[in-house]
Amino acid sequence: MLNFPQQALTFGSFINGEFQNNYSQKLVVRSPYNNSVLGEVGVSSTAEIDQAIQDASMAQKSWAQTPIKERSKVMFEFRNILMRDIDKISNLKSLESGKTFAEGKAGLLKGIEVLEFALSLQNSDLGGRLDVSRGVSCEYRRTALGVVANITPFNFPAMVPMWTIPIALTLGNAYIWKPSDKTPLTATYIASALKEAGLPNGLLQVIFGAQNEVETIIDHPLVKAIGFVGSTKVAKIVYERGTKLGKRVLAMGGAKNHIVLLPDANLDISGLGISDSFTGCAGQRCMAASVLLAVGDVDKHIEKILQRASSLKLGSEMGAIITKAQKEFLISAIDRAEKAGAKILLDGRKVSAPKGMEEGNWLGPTIIDFVQPNSEAHTTELFGPILSIIRCKDISGAMKIQNTSVYGNAC
Ligand code: NAD
Repeated sequence: MLNFPQQALTFGSFINGEFQNNYSQKLVVRSPYNNSVLGEVGVSSTAEIDQAIQDASMAQKSWAQTPIKERSKVMFEFRNILMRDIDKISNLKSLESGKTFAEGKAGLLKGIEVLEFALSLQNSDLGGRLDVSRGVSCEYRRTALGVVANITPFNFPAMVPMWTIPIALTLGNAYIWKPSDKTPLTATYIASALKEAGLPNGLLQVIFGAQNEVETIIDHPLVKAIGFVGSTKVAKIVYERGTKLGKRVLAMGGAKNHIVLLPDANLDISGLGISDSFTGCAGQRCMAASVLLAVGDVDKHIEKILQRASSLKLGSEMGAIITKAQKEFLISAIDRAEKAGAKILLDGRKVSAPKGMEEGNWLGPTIIDFVQPNSEAHTTELFGPILSIIRCKDISGAMKIQNTSVYGNAC
């Protein structure tokens, strides 16, 4: 059961260990569960971002000189605080992202796994030396880059940032974090946890905003490397902008993952696995199996998928769609598929909202059968609880279709 905050949560950007309160523009954060206002965050001005990055650069110089064992102690304490507060953080991230509590907690725990890995970095290869000739040796050292930045998506407000925060900080960098404009509140808890763990001020600066703020961060000369996770469209924009400036950019985009289902597949395992894959996080995850390549006669299997998906209780077993606009987009995509001749086997458009949550962004699990390979339901990442089934004669036909996908996350 999720607990809504008694009062709206209000935060400015987190700079030099403090939340700033002198902002003129703000982002209002609503819960996908019922569209109630959870709080607001202040959008950083260009001048504030510039100062935050300069301060991060100053702080990074002494952090890089701090022995890795001492930096790791801060991370160890950070882990203890996250574990202590895991329910509180999972509750907030579920409220703002539309996940169920169990999904919110699982995501944070996956992030903590990376933190645990980061604790081992102090025992990893930090450099070495080779004698290459008489009196000549080559030495290699691993040094921090300086200030690095990360731009993260709405659907994993803690896990995706935690892919890089513990690693970058343990290795002596300062970190500029621009969380999603849709789910910025989780970042405030993570920033507070790092402060409590003893991270020196300036090493984690949290900037709120969207496109403009991202561009300011990418363009800043002191930012040496940029991480991005989000849609393919924005991943390309960020990648091009950063690499044009000669910066290192790791940009990860969207997905349309295919599952090939064969007639001899185990009925129960495939029914459960395929259903849970496309409905988990209400389909709002890059690894969701959103295309089923159904080879031969697999109607019995599809019936199992349908049974499982239609039994899910909205609100407790499947969460909500991030925004009203995205819910409307998903409904229009189902309408278009239907008009194009596909058959709606399970219609999430007809499902009612959970009691008391009628204002939320709800769409039930949807299964669309007889989708054509060149149609939107196959070629576009819809990002909702929708499974598109393409019927295939044989496995090589299925593989051919899979190989036409422009996305490449999982198969
Ligand atoms: P998004 O691309 O809309 O936003 C991602 C981030 O970019 C946010 O912080 C947002 O504020 C910022 N942003 C938005 N428009 C921008 C612009 N024009 N210029 C610069 N920055 C901009 O993505 P989203 O909707 O938050 O997240 C869902 C997407 O993320 C899906 O496509 C999903 O597949 C993908 N995703 C991928 C992975 C992966 O590992 N490949 C993991 C999680 C999510």
